[in-house]
Amino acid sequence: MSQQTPGHATEQEARDVAEAARESEWTSPSFLKELFLGRFRLDLIDPFPEPTAEEEAKAKPFMDKLRAFMERVDSDKIDREGNIPESVMQEMRDIGAFGIKIPTEYGGLGLSQTSYIRAIGMVTSKDGSLTTVLSAHQSIGLPGPLKLFGSEEQKKKYLPRLAKGAISAFALTEVDAGSDPANMRTTATPSEDGKYFILNGEKLWCTNGTRCELMVVMARTPDAIVNGKPKKQITAFIVESSMPGVEVTHRNHFMGLRAIENAVLKFTNVKVPRENIIWEEGKGLKLALVTLNTGRLTLPASCAYGAKQMLLVAREWAAKRVQWGQPIGKHEAVAQKLARLAANTFAMEAVAELASGLADRGGYDIRLEAAIGKLWNTEAGWRAVDDTVQIRGGRGYETADSLRVRGEEPIPVERALRDFRINLIFEGSSEIMRLFIAREAVDHHFKTAFDLVNPHATGKQRWAAFVRSARFYPWWYPSMWIGGTRGYREFGALAGQMRYVERTTRRLGRSIFHAMVRLGAKLEKRQMVLFRLVDVGAELFAMAAVCSRARMLAKKGDANAIELADLFCREARLRIAQHFRELFGPNDAALYKVSQKALEGSYAWLEEGIVRAESAVSGGTPVAATATKKREPVTV
Ligand SMILES: Cc1cc2nc3c(=O)[nH]c(=O)nc-3n(C[C@H](O)[C@H](O)[C@H](O)COP(=O)(O)OP(=O)(O)OC[C@H]3O[C@@H](n4cnc5c(N)ncnc54)[C@H](O)[C@@H]3O)c2cc1C
Repeated sequence: MSQQTPGHATEQEARDVAEAARESEWTSPSFLKELFLGRFRLDLIDPFPEPTAEEEAKAKPFMDKLRAFMERVDSDKIDREGNIPESVMQEMRDIGAFGIKIPTEYGGLGLSQTSYIRAIGMVTSKDGSLTTVLSAHQSIGLPGPLKLFGSEEQKKKYLPRLAKGAISAFALTEVDAGSDPANMRTTATPSEDGKYFILNGEKLWCTNGTRCELMVVMARTPDAIVNGKPKKQITAFIVESSMPGVEVTHRNHFMGLRAIENAVLKFTNVKVPRENIIWEEGKGLKLALVTLNTGRLTLPASCAYGAKQMLLVAREWAAKRVQWGQPIGKHEAVAQKLARLAANTFAMEAVAELASGLADRGGYDIRLEAAIGKLWNTEAGWRAVDDTVQIRGGRGYETADSLRVRGEEPIPVERALRDFRINLIFEGSSEIMRLFIAREAVDHHFKTAFDLVNPHATGKQRWAAFVRSARFYPWWYPSMWIGGTRGYREFGALAGQMRYVERTTRRLGRSIFHAMVRLGAKLEKRQMVLFRLVDVGAELFAMAAVCSRARMLAKKGDANAIELADLFCREARLRIAQHFRELFGPNDAALYKVSQKALEGSYAWLEEGIVRAESAVSGGTPVAATATKKREPVTV
């Protein structure tokens, strides 16, 4: 039974909204879709996709300008003051950084997804706050949905402005609608003459909200009636920040990304012309999800480039810092961190480049690769930053400014740690990513056999499921046990790792099936079982990406890559073994029981002796008093 919290959508409603927004069809191939079905389709990702020489030549002038610009930027000052100077913004506009992927016919640079992530990666390696402006604009802001779903008229009207640097934002989240858009309350009601929609509501944490000229706003439009029942509709609108009734009521501040221009936005009777709907009425959430499928490719690269920076810092410090008679990098505990940092950075770059390369190649369904790239790289990246702080010791915890004043090199690892943490939360938290991936991982079995175990299925539905199952499982299931036809000799020293990936893919396929048989309809509630299966898939994807990339680099004479790939695979195999060992969670029931008692307050006695962390006297100013007037849009 789904529980109802007053004013909130029920669990079932949340599922229905998510399901309605899901892309239910797979029209193009996907390596990961196949992998979760136990099929290792290496041909879909290998040879490793690389940008063409023409693309690299086309990107070079911009990349050179971007590098020169980034070398000059004072990122510690930006962080300290929590502000990106207008001169910095203008310079980014001047070099074309706001229109990297916008086609040249609309005034952009017309570069590929891979060039885009390399550019954003370079920015992130020094300055997370600058990344947020560029990425919120181009990864999730208006250019993405317009390119995918905008009418030609809309593209002509907005893309040239956006390419020149009219900053855009993406407004989906609300106070009660974080991971769960079913709770969305912002409404867009058609005007009597049908020419406008009247927008009312409030959006939370909108990146670029304080600075944007244009935004994509998701709002509830009147319910559609489907099979006699009302069905929630969410629609995407292009909103100009200069429209009367659009207001920035608060600029939000965070642990890191101190200069992020993130706002609470209020809409009061904003008249939005009907022609500002992107795609169609009721398609807003699907648009958001599809936009994020590609938008999410930015974060894996950002994380990889963040890790590259950490690797540089860690290796130099581990070689230079002498304690107990030798450089700390010679002590095994530090040495292991450094080795993992190198191997994981290689893996993160392989995952990011592979996912974006596949997107560029076209004719490929990228949604699972992007989701796993986001999930895997953000978590591996977080460990990379955390280990670098540890390797730097006290200096890792000290601010760059403080180091500078003491006459030491102002290496901003402390800032990197603060800036990095949000990556595991926004653009789909790690938990939501795992749920999203799990839903797709079980999709084939769900469509084929779910009605056999579905208590609500009719007799007819059960029979149909039986027929489908009888056609599919007798040949599919044995194929999950028998196989291993290839030697992968072209992978040289990594051939054994590739054979393992192939074998384990089959094991994953049958484990997902076993979990369905064992738990039936209850599987959807056993998040941790699903999550372990997802994590096995993610590790296998990273292994395949790493081996394929190492092979490509080795062909070019970079033999070092093979040993990094091998180390990465050895470590990944240990993690996979643990996931399988604990698949059905020997402690899951005990953990859940304690968690529920904790929720009820049964262990409140453990909190005795503390003082509540939130201050009784607020040091901040009430939101209303800090309310900013709507900004004049920046003229470009
Ligand atoms: C710096 C920053 C920038 C942002 N920029 C934007 C932006 O530009 N535009 C925009 O629209 N939004 C933006 N967001 C919002 C961001 O996308 C949300 O924070 C995110 O979607 C999570 O929502 P929430 O914080 O309300 O967490 P909640 O949804 O309340 O989740 C809290 C915790 O519960 C977990 N959880 C939730 N549901 C489930 C479930 N079913 N199963 C298991 N675990 C679950 C979550 O993973 C999380 O760990 C931004 C947020 C921040 C902090």
